[in-house]
Formats: sequence, C-alpha cells, structure tokens
Amino acid sequence: MVEIVLVESDTIENKVLLSCHSLIAAFFPGKRVQAGSDKLDEQSYLYKLNLHFNHNRHQPVFKFKICDQKKVLTSLSHQALDMDILEKLTLPGKESALQILLKQAVIVFLTKYTKETAPWGILTGIRPGKLIQKMVELGIPDSEQTKLLEDIYLVHSDKITLLKSVARAQKPFLQTMKAQTDLISLYISIPFCPSRCYYCSFPSNNLNCSDLHKYLDVLVKEIELAAETIKSKGLRVNAIYIGGGTPTVLSAKELTKILDKISKHVPVNDNFEYTVEAGRPDTIDEEKLRVLERYGINRISINPQSMQDSTLERIGRRHTIADVYKCYELARKNQNWAINMDLILGLPEEGYKEIEDTLKKVIALNPENITVHALAIKRGSTAWAENYTSNTMNYWLDIQKYVHTNIVSKGFVPYYLYRQKYIIGNLENIGYALAGNECQYNIAIIEERQNILGIGAGSVNKIMNSDKTTHRNIYHPVDLKSYMRGYEDVHFKVRKALDYS
Ligand code: SF4
Repeated sequence: MVEIVLVESDTIENKVLLSCHSLIAAFFPGKRVQAGSDKLDEQSYLYKLNLHFNHNRHQPVFKFKICDQKKVLTSLSHQALDMDILEKLTLPGKESALQILLKQAVIVFLTKYTKETAPWGILTGIRPGKLIQKMVELGIPDSEQTKLLEDIYLVHSDKITLLKSVARAQKPFLQTMKAQTDLISLYISIPFCPSRCYYCSFPSNNLNCSDLHKYLDVLVKEIELAAETIKSKGLRVNAIYIGGGTPTVLSAKELTKILDKISKHVPVNDNFEYTVEAGRPDTIDEEKLRVLERYGINRISINPQSMQDSTLERIGRRHTIADVYKCYELARKNQNWAINMDLILGLPEEGYKEIEDTLKKVIALNPENITVHALAIKRGSTAWAENYTSNTMNYWLDIQKYVHTNIVSKGFVPYYLYRQKYIIGNLENIGYALAGNECQYNIAIIEERQNILGIGAGSVNKIMNSDKTTHRNIYHPVDLKSYMRGYEDVHFKVRKALDYS
C-alpha cells in the first residue's frame, strides 16, 4: 500500500505550500506527498506535516509539527531571515521571499528530523545551471554567486563546484549561441521502442507496422516543411539530434528514408553535429551502423544503463551485456564518431557493488561520453505503479560521489546537468565528455539559449524571444494520431514565433 505524507497549513496559502512539494518528497523516498489542494486522503496518512507561519516580516518564524495517526512525533520552531533584507538582495530566481524562506525552513526541519542531507538545498528546478547564467547576466561577481548559492539557496559546496565546472565547460558553446543566432538545433523524434523499460513513462508505442509507416511518411513531410522554414528565415542547423524512443528500432531502409530526406533538404552549417541515439543495443546491427556512417552521423549513444544481466532482465531491457559488447565493437570500427554510454543509479536491487562493476566495465570500453542518470520514478511507469522505493538520500549521495570522482579522474569533464521530479537521492543527471566531445545539442536543450525546432510526435520547439534570454515552448502532441493530424498547424505556429525571435 502507498504510504502518504500529508502536508497542511492554515497560515500558508496553497500555491506557496505546493512549491515545497518536491522538496518534502525528497526526504520521504517511496512515500506519496500530498500538499495543499493536492490533499486526497485525510484518513490513511502515515505522517502529517503541519506548517505554521507568523507572517511577521521582521521576525518571521515557522513552526513545524510532524504527527502520525496517534501523536505528535516532533516539533520545531525556526527563526527565518528578515524579509526586507532578503527582498533587497539581487536574486536570480523567480520565487517570492516567502517561498524562499519556507523552503529554507523545510530543509532545516527535515534534515534535523530525518538526518538526511539535501545537497541541492532549496533548489528544485530541472535546470540549476540557469541560476549561474542568470547571475552572470545580472553582473553578480563570482564570489557573490557562491555566497548566494550557499547562504540563500543552501546548496552544498560540492554541488556549487559542480555547477561552476559545468558552466566553464559550456561557456564557449553558450557564447557561440549568443553571437550566432542564425544557427539552430533540430530534434527529430522516433517515438517507438521494442519494449517498455521498468522506469519509463514514455508512451513507447509498440512497433505496429502500419502506424509506423504512416508516421514516417508524415515525419519526412515535416522535415521538408521545417527545411523550407529554416531556409526562408536565413537559418542554418548546427546540431541535429535524432532521439526517441529508440531510433535504431527502425530498419536500415527506414533510417535511410529519414536521413536521406535530411541530407537533401536541411541547410546545415559546416562541421555540424549529427547525433543518433542508438539507445538499446538489441536494435543495432552492422547494416544500420553503416547507414548512419554513410550519412555522416558523428555521435551515437549506446546505452547499457547497467552492466548486470540480472538488472537488465529486471528492468525489461531485453538485451544482455554480451549485446552491449557486440554492439560497441561493431560501432567502434568507425573511429570518427563519438560514442556516449548512459548509466542509471538506483536501478532495482543495485547498490554500490553493482554500480562499481558497471562503471569499471563502461570506462574500460573508452567511450568519449558517459551520462550518469539518477533514476527518476515517473508517473505512469511500472516503477511508479509498484511504488518502487530505493535507499536514502545519504546512501545515493555517497555512491554518486564515488562515480563522479572516478569518471573525472579518467579525464572526463561534466558539461551539462539537469534534475528531475522524484529523482532518486534528490540527485541530478550529469553528462560527462572527454575534451572536444561535448554534445552541443545537450547544452542547447538544457540551457535553452538557442532556437530548437522539434520534428515528430512529442517533440518540443524552443523558440527564443527577442530578449535572447527567454523562450517559448511549442509542443507537438505525444499521441501519434493527433501529431499526424495537426503537425502543419504546430509548424505554422513555430514559423510565426521565429518572426519575433
Ligand atoms: S528505451 Fe528509453 S524511451 Fe524506450 S522504453 Fe526504455 S527508457 Fe523508455
């Protein structure tokens, strides 16, 4: 049965209370947090967390109480910062002073109560790197940035070091994106997979031949349409990313159909980056790899997630470690492309021993990129339905430190990072690259500083506003039929938005 943590307050409005939802959830792995109007079940909670605020600007005090069904387990008062002082600071985020103070107080209370560590402090957004970008734009000097991250956002020093190291690696790419606004990225979605992974909520459409063929016919039409728009606006593509799903689930002939359309129509910059997410090793063969080679793909991903056969079976990957080795060997015959390998921390029944072994095996293969994800339990996944619970935040923090130190010691540099809701250990996903092998597209999609055209079901167009720092998202529906019906309308909106970009 799902265990529920109810969060309630008579003095803090729902909107503010809800902004703490994922922060509180991080301290209660495997339990469902219901806050504010999200509250569904008063009767069957495991814990009730009561928050009280005195609304005094100069001496703000939060009071917490945590109870089970029978009694108060603990309570605490927290004297927060003077709100006037906080409001006078130049801060990079959009949160109100009250939201910041409440989150700080929640961290103080829950770290005391659970003895857990919250290395990201009060930051709950997907893109913590944007705070650094914003602070640079606001002219906040480096030492002051560190102070704000430490004192206001309560971020731990190793995460600040990580953020700054990512910002350094991204700097030349972001400068180019800012200076050359005629360069754009292109994302092409192949939303099909051979089976659904345990932790995935993606509507990975089963491979139904007739749907697939109809989809590919529409996709190539949209590629032509996008190419016309790109040309008419005087733009050029400097990164193409074909992702999914699993693009290599397509046959060599089907891959050729898409790649051929791109090569004939899409205007590209010299030495553009061209990525295909091969993803599942069981979908790759020599013939497909040679097709990718012929069309100039210069980056591929081969994603084992784990190098433990028992785990792969448990998570429904339908491939073995032997498939990973075979596929990697075939791919390595081409020395001209960079290979990325994805790993996941927090897979079922995996701990330090399995992760150490997986990491050794992956590093021994010498890929140019390694991406380390922390498992995120997504609504709609089997993991969510089974109420999958893993270990504590402190446990995963230690393992992640080990993985990070090990990868960095081999010369890799962290160059992009992002976080997700319900991510294990409240950690982050980090992309590492050997120098010169950073994926520009990954930087563009996470930092949102370049126009990105999305083609295909579930893709998103990110079109920069004229201020060059904010953007608008224009989505293609995830559902295949809705996408095929409405792709021209979505594209028309994109074309219009580009006029104001
Ligand atoms: S390969 Fe990726 S997209 Fe496909 S089911 Fe697995 S996690 Fe989801």
